[in-house]
Amino acid sequence: MSKFWSPVVSRLVPYVPGEQPSDSSVIKLNTNENPYGPSPIALGAIRAATQDSLRLYPDPGAARLRTAVAGTFGLSPENVFAGNGSDEILAHAFHGFFSGRDPIVFPDITYSFYRTYCELYGIAHRTVPLDDGFQVDVASLKDPCGGIVVANPNAPTGIALGLGAIETILDQNRDVVVIVDEAYVDFGADSAASLVPNHDNLLVVQTFSKSRSLAGLRVGFALGQPHLIEALQRIRDSFNSYPLDRLALAGAEAAWTHTDWFEETRHMVIASRERLAADLTDLGFDVLPSAANFLFVSHGTVAAAELAAKLRSDGILVRHFPVGRINNHLRISVGTDEECDALVRAIRSIIGTGYRP
Ligand SMILES: *Cc1c(COP(=O)(O)O)cnc(C)c1O
Repeated sequence: MSKFWSPVVSRLVPYVPGEQPSDSSVIKLNTNENPYGPSPIALGAIRAATQDSLRLYPDPGAARLRTAVAGTFGLSPENVFAGNGSDEILAHAFHGFFSGRDPIVFPDITYSFYRTYCELYGIAHRTVPLDDGFQVDVASLKDPCGGIVVANPNAPTGIALGLGAIETILDQNRDVVVIVDEAYVDFGADSAASLVPNHDNLLVVQTFSKSRSLAGLRVGFALGQPHLIEALQRIRDSFNSYPLDRLALAGAEAAWTHTDWFEETRHMVIASRERLAADLTDLGFDVLPSAANFLFVSHGTVAAAELAAKLRSDGILVRHFPVGRINNHLRISVGTDEECDALVRAIRSIIGTGYRP
C-alpha cells in the first residue's frame, strides 16, 4: 500500500503466475510449457530478423501473420487479431466487450486470469459450478448475462467441450460475446474457428505459447467476425499500437508455417500424456480425461499439498491451487517421457510401498 496508488491499484488482486526457477536442473511441470523447443525454422527467422531494421517500428497490423493464420482456418485476415500473448488479447476483449455490461459468466473452476481482468476493468461477474465430474454444464450458461468466457479445453481440468456444446452456448447467448479460450486446443479438442462465419458473437483466442513452444516470444491471436476484430484493434490502438515486435512477428510467421514440427511435437506430447495418465492411475491417482498438455489429478491417500511440497524438494515442480474443491488436486504439465518417468519414480518413493491399488 502506498499513498500514491490509485484506488484501482489498491483493490487489484493480481494473477500469480507459476514459478520460474533460475535453477535449470529443476524439472518444470508447473506452467504448461512445451517440453520440446520451438521450430528451428522459427528460431532461424528470429535470428535473421535481428538486424538493422530493428530501428524501425514493426507492422502494427501484423499483416503477414494474420494472412497465414487466416489461410489455415479458411478465414480472411479481417477475421484475425494478433496480440502480445493471448493474455493481452483476453484483456482487450474483456475491456472491449464486457465492461459496462451485465455480469459476465464463467465456470467456477477455470483460468484464474478471467477474474483478474474483471477486477482490473471493473466488470461484474458470476460463476457457474462445474459438475461433480468437473465438466461444464452447458445448461447453466443460458441465463441472461453480459458475456461468457469458456476455456476449451478447460484449465486446470484439461476437459474439453465438443463443438456441439460450444454452438449451444453461442445460440443461448446471441446478444453477448462468447469468448472461447483455446490455449490448449491443439492437444486434443476441436477448434471453434469453423463456427466463426456463422456466429457473430464468437471470439476464439489461441496462443503460440503452448503447442508452438513459444511462450517466451509472447504471441497470440483471436478469430472472429470483422466487427469484433475491429473492436480489438480500436483498443490496441488506444493502448499500444505495436504489441508484436519484429522478432515476434518473424518467429510466429515461420512457426505457423512449419507444420511438420508442430504436428510432430504435439503428437509426442499427446503420447506422453497418455503414458503418464496410465502410470499415475496405476499409482492410485484419479486422473481427469485431458485434452490438454497437462493432467489434473488427485490421489486417494496422499494430500496434494504434501505431494507438491515433497516433489519440490526432489527438484520437480507441479502446480497446486490451494482453493475450494480443487485443493486436493495437482496440475501436472506433460514433459518429455524422461521427465514424466522421473516424476513417477519420485511419486512412487513419496507414496512408499504401503500403497496398493
Ligand atoms: C497459457 C494460457 C493462456 C495465456 O497464454 P499466453 O498466450 O502465453 O498469454 C491463456 N489462457 C489459458 C487458459 C492458458 O492456460
